[in-house]
Amino acid sequence: MANQTAIWVLTSPGTEVVLDADAHIVQWEMAAAAALSGVQLRPAPAGEGRLVASAVDLERAMRADSPHSASASLVCVENTHNGAGGAVTSASDLAQIAALARSRGLAVHLDGARLWNAHVATGTALAEFARAADTVMVSFSKGLGCPVGAMLAGDAATIRRAHVARKRLGGGMRQSGILAAAALHALDAHLARLADDHAHARLLADVVAGVPGVAVVSPDTNIVMIDLPRGVASADVVAAAGKENVLVTPWNATRVRAVTHLDVDAASVKRAGAVLARAIGRLVHA
Ligand SMILES: *Cc1c(COP(=O)(O)O)cnc(C)c1O
Repeated sequence: MANQTAIWVLTSPGTEVVLDADAHIVQWEMAAAAALSGVQLRPAPAGEGRLVASAVDLERAMRADSPHSASASLVCVENTHNGAGGAVTSASDLAQIAALARSRGLAVHLDGARLWNAHVATGTALAEFARAADTVMVSFSKGLGCPVGAMLAGDAATIRRAHVARKRLGGGMRQSGILAAAALHALDAHLARLADDHAHARLLADVVAGVPGVAVVSPDTNIVMIDLPRGVASADVVAAAGKENVLVTPWNATRVRAVTHLDVDAASVKRAGAVLARAIGRLVHA
């Protein structure tokens, strides 16, 4: 809802939003940008072996100013990038994207559901990442571990309009104080420890990468994308691991996604890696 609120206030109907082809806004938000804000998503595939679209990729996806094609109004960037395996876009790459957007008169929205992880992984200040954008969305229920909650930041005039959009979207909650308390606790107690999740993700990646035929996307942060050996289906790996209480998700037919988080310590991560490695090994020979 925070992403869709930003799109609502930063675009006008009939314009385009330029963003990474694998972005959360494209993949997991029910075409809400079209349904609620009347905009078209213009996905930019990441080129040249990269996992996340760069300024070059976004520029390629933009159309020339013409009376025959829709004009763009907004660029969205997801950082870290879930679909790319928790990949970090550096502050300097983000600044390049923002400069490109501004040179075309476009606004910039940062989907920072996991911006906390980018901050801890790089040491770059949150404000430095945020500087590139007109609006920044952050989520408290991912690595920070709150039961629920997300926030949208922007300048005062933008947020005044966001309050209208929020209420129209059904988000005018009077009971949010108890959720804000959890978010404040998480910022105090769970932010620095994200470094543990990142170390655990590397640990898990190392164990699973040792299985013949497996390719693991080297984790920048807390997400491990595991590409399975030929002939092994992600659904079978998820089911086999689940029987041993290791919970992972099928990202697609041949890729499994594992996420480390504050409820899983190093010993559990080692065990999870061993369970996954054994399950994949068995399925290769089945
Ligand atoms: C989860 C997620 C969101 C939505 O966050 P909520 O806190 O559920 O509103 C947006 N973007 C990305 C990349 C996410 O992973």
